[in-house]
Amino acid sequence: MRILKGTGPAVHRSILHSHAVLHSRARPQSPYNVKAFSRRVIDWQKVHGRHGLPWQGTRDPYRLWLSEIMLQQTQVATVVPFYERFLARFPDVAALAEADADEVMRLWSGLGYYARARNLHGAARRVVEAHGGRFPLAIEAVADLPGIGRSTAAAIVAFATGEPHAILDGNVKRVLARHAGVEGAVDGAAVLARLWDVAQSRLPRRDVEAYTQGLMDLGATLCTRSAPDCERCPVRADCVAWREGLTDELPGRKAARVVKLRRAVWLVVLAGSKVLLEKRPAPGIWGGLWSFPEFAEGTDPGGACAGLGIVPTTIGPLPVLTHAFTHFTLEAMPFRVGVRRATLSASEIERRWIALGEAQESALPAPVKRLLAALAPEASRSGAARAGTGAGSRFAPRRR
Ligand code: SF4
Repeated sequence: MRILKGTGPAVHRSILHSHAVLHSRARPQSPYNVKAFSRRVIDWQKVHGRHGLPWQGTRDPYRLWLSEIMLQQTQVATVVPFYERFLARFPDVAALAEADADEVMRLWSGLGYYARARNLHGAARRVVEAHGGRFPLAIEAVADLPGIGRSTAAAIVAFATGEPHAILDGNVKRVLARHAGVEGAVDGAAVLARLWDVAQSRLPRRDVEAYTQGLMDLGATLCTRSAPDCERCPVRADCVAWREGLTDELPGRKAARVVKLRRAVWLVVLAGSKVLLEKRPAPGIWGGLWSFPEFAEGTDPGGACAGLGIVPTTIGPLPVLTHAFTHFTLEAMPFRVGVRRATLSASEIERRWIALGEAQESALPAPVKRLLAALAPEASRSGAARAGTGAGSRFAPRRR
């Protein structure tokens, strides 16, 4: 055994960790009492779990599907208004399938991770074409739809039918890795396979909805990433991480990802109170949403204007804008371009002039919306005064 020097919490944790590893190697965890685990989760959920959310109390797979997709990577409080607006406009899968892609993106605008909306729309059309408009309830058929993984399919079917299906979203991975003492990074294939086994082995036969919701609620409210509230946890008594002091170590960290930086030049072209926007290609970042004409880092804005077929009267820099995506950070360098007339040259890229007053209702990424909101008062003043008749910019960059 390793001899550790010194004292203190870190060493204490290391000793505990060594004990845990030795302990688990020397004596495998005894067969789990499935009923005891699931019963405690179910009882806890009924009293302390989250209730009254707009997607609860229904067996409509369309509503359940919509909520599960919106809740991926997104907090409940953020999702609720988007969910209600979306459902009011598209009350069933047929309405969504018939919808124009622009309108779907507009209603998703601000929720982020836009591939979800594109997949949702594509899946609705598939449900109409392949399943006669009835959302399937066989788990294989659900998992076969665009944008639906194994855990999401299981959650939809479990909530819609009460059939036991194991789920394993990010929060549930954390709960089960800690409770069963599963070591290793949760994105590793072997660890994932082990966690699926754990999830499967603990499924109850009855009260599946409360159990499924309970696991989700435990992960979101008590068994949080940092500082889990073990004192109030219903499964603390046999939780390996709690018993061995390993809540900081489990689950294992994913390998650190190097966040790349991408730079781009944006042209914020204004003709009075109208702004020029272009539709971003899908698939791709913000695919299907409307944004400013974008060019490679270092592009000369004057030359870029010529490519757009516009004659600028003013060009000036705006503050640099950064936006974090999962795999990279975007650093956009916007230039405000004033033009006299809202003209357009022919292009393969779909472009349009849109009134600034209408922009907030359009399918725009959140940073674009914010920039336009900041420009709107100034643009409408300058529009009234027919701005853009002089050289240079009235916008001084705050930072670059
Ligand atoms: S006891 Fe603590 S670490 Fe274990 S499952 Fe409960 S909240 Fe998570």
